[in-house]
Amino acid sequence: MIIDGKKEANILKTEIQKEISLLKKKINKVPELIVILIGNFEPSQIYVRNKQKVSQEVGMHSKIVKYPENVSEKEILNKIKDLNKDDNVSGILVQLPLPEHISKEKIINLIEPSKDVDGFNPLNVGNLASGFKAIIPCTPMGCLMLIKKVEKNLSGKHAVIVGRSNLNGKPMAQLLLKENCTVTVVHSKTKNLKQECCRADILVAAAGVASLIKKDWVKDNSIVIDVGINRLGDKLVGDVSFEEVKDKVKAITPVPGGVGPMTIVCLLKNTLECFKARWI
Ligand code: NAD
Repeated sequence: MIIDGKKEANILKTEIQKEISLLKKKINKVPELIVILIGNFEPSQIYVRNKQKVSQEVGMHSKIVKYPENVSEKEILNKIKDLNKDDNVSGILVQLPLPEHISKEKIINLIEPSKDVDGFNPLNVGNLASGFKAIIPCTPMGCLMLIKKVEKNLSGKHAVIVGRSNLNGKPMAQLLLKENCTVTVVHSKTKNLKQECCRADILVAAAGVASLIKKDWVKDNSIVIDVGINRLGDKLVGDVSFEEVKDKVKAITPVPGGVGPMTIVCLLKNTLECFKARWI
């Protein structure tokens, strides 16, 4: 089974759109997402434009606040303070990576946790780790939704996650623990990477290494979720050698068209949830 991330993302997008339209009738308000973009890094420009386009398609308000590369850290922190206080703003996102002179830690710590649609603020990270209600980072949330399209009950499954970033690997591990999986997190310093991957009923690859996972790294009948996005010439490929792995496993996400489309719709879901928590 090839998991169609585009299709699943469209289903979720339609649900969000309907809910926003009902809320608009009921309370005459819609969620507003503010994206702060610093500098001219081309991929960030594309991501941000895409986020704005999709959020507007579901009926949200969305604004991109742009700053030049040399903007001071103080100016960004002051802007976040203002957005934190603004009742009309449901979600705040600062597009990463940041220029070197701006502290990611200060930015993430300052974003009001109830507007932290990326789920990176330590309060949300801690709540997720404690099994409490939290805003969940968009990519792992999307991955879990795709896994659950294949298998509803994950209890007792062995999940192996390749990568331990705050963005992907760590929150993915927390989500799968919450689903009662036995979780192994492997990374660039792990010995016997292949053997660890071979034990996975659910394998989530988030290393950012093109075609790292080969056919003899996966277990028969497993579920493989490929988070990786790697550019090879003019082609995008994942962390999994898709063609050789796809016939061995029970289900796999393609790149592109797998996890990517879910990530952006999960951002809209988080923005909607933040809005509802404030107004409903
Ligand atoms: P990162 O660089 O922050 O983390 C990568 C992790 O992989 C690290 O923990 C590192 O230890 C591990 N790693 C690196 N090389 C390895 C190797 N050879 N073997 C085992 N582990 C290795 O990256 P990230 O931000 O987590 O992103 C990972 C990938 O996911 C990238 O390709 C990125 O573009 C992609 N991504 C996709 C989406 C999406 O929506 N599909 C969203 C975010 C990131």
